[in-house]
Amino acid sequence: MMTTNPFPAISAARLPDVLRGMPKAELHMHIEGSLEPELIFQLAQRNGVSIPYASVEDLRRAYAFTDLQSFLDIYYAGASVLLQEQDFYDMAWAYFERAAADQVSRAELFFDPQTHTARGVSMDTVITGLHRACADAEQKLGISAALILCFLRHLSEEDGLATLEAALPYRDQFIGVGLDSSEVGHPPEKFTRLFARCREQGLRIVAHAGEEGPPAYVWGALDLLGAERIDHGVQSVHDAALMTRLAKERVPLTVCPLSNLKLCVFPTLAQHNLGALLDAGLCATVNSDDPAYFGGYVNENYLQTFAALPALHAGHAYTLARNSFEGSFMDEAAKQREIARLDAYFAAFA
Ligand SMILES: [Zn+2]
Repeated sequence: MMTTNPFPAISAARLPDVLRGMPKAELHMHIEGSLEPELIFQLAQRNGVSIPYASVEDLRRAYAFTDLQSFLDIYYAGASVLLQEQDFYDMAWAYFERAAADQVSRAELFFDPQTHTARGVSMDTVITGLHRACADAEQKLGISAALILCFLRHLSEEDGLATLEAALPYRDQFIGVGLDSSEVGHPPEKFTRLFARCREQGLRIVAHAGEEGPPAYVWGALDLLGAERIDHGVQSVHDAALMTRLAKERVPLTVCPLSNLKLCVFPTLAQHNLGALLDAGLCATVNSDDPAYFGGYVNENYLQTFAALPALHAGHAYTLARNSFEGSFMDEAAKQREIARLDAYFAAFA
């Protein structure tokens, strides 16, 4: 338990500025979930696509979700405006500008190719546009960026295997694979062959598990899919043996507090278990998931969560930022450089 603040000079009043300014990595962000209503309308106009909302305000009003599925319905409607390579570039670039403002120095972006290939958009269009934005983020904003291809778990394993084959010619433009979309009813065991094939390709493995689904899905993601990182994982607290394993193996959890609030995984942020995960020694991190839809980018997630959970102090802030670099897929030397920068940042406040 980290009950005493190891940075006594950083009082609760100074904490918001520290959270905003500290260097951090973002490891759980679906690029299609960063589409703001303004950009959806702009791209719809540019591409001559009609969308079932009269105005930006009308679309924003539809963002009152009751669960994961009600969100996914609007999410797929929003993605329908993405057709050209430049659309994918513009979407990713808009995110990187916000990430830079939030002091994100490493971003690992999820993308859902099946959402686009099913509409007749080619894998080449999707990956080339996103990858070009990643290269520019590094060059122009100093953000180290990488792509993680996610399979939609409500679709079949065969569909996932075909998607992987279509993506392999672009193998050097993405570092790993993940598993997202509707969790309950689509357990990890549905995708064991697909993830075995991904591991053969040397891809890094992550998977959404334990967001709405039970701890058994987290076990399955680790043992059947070979997940190195668990996306969400907040339901793990209901399984003591799982918590012990996650802490012992330092399996990173990419926690997304505002997403959990919007999708009613927790009734209020004050009831969120982020503090419990940290105090149990887990490598928990803070991320924005689908920031355009869930009411905030990564700094907003930090700020609102710390405001709602007064037990969290500067020591937790440091640990979360450090975990974000430790849990990233940067090479060891780059991680150490980022952690040294973080240490210097906190030392300056002492
Ligand atoms: Zn997610």
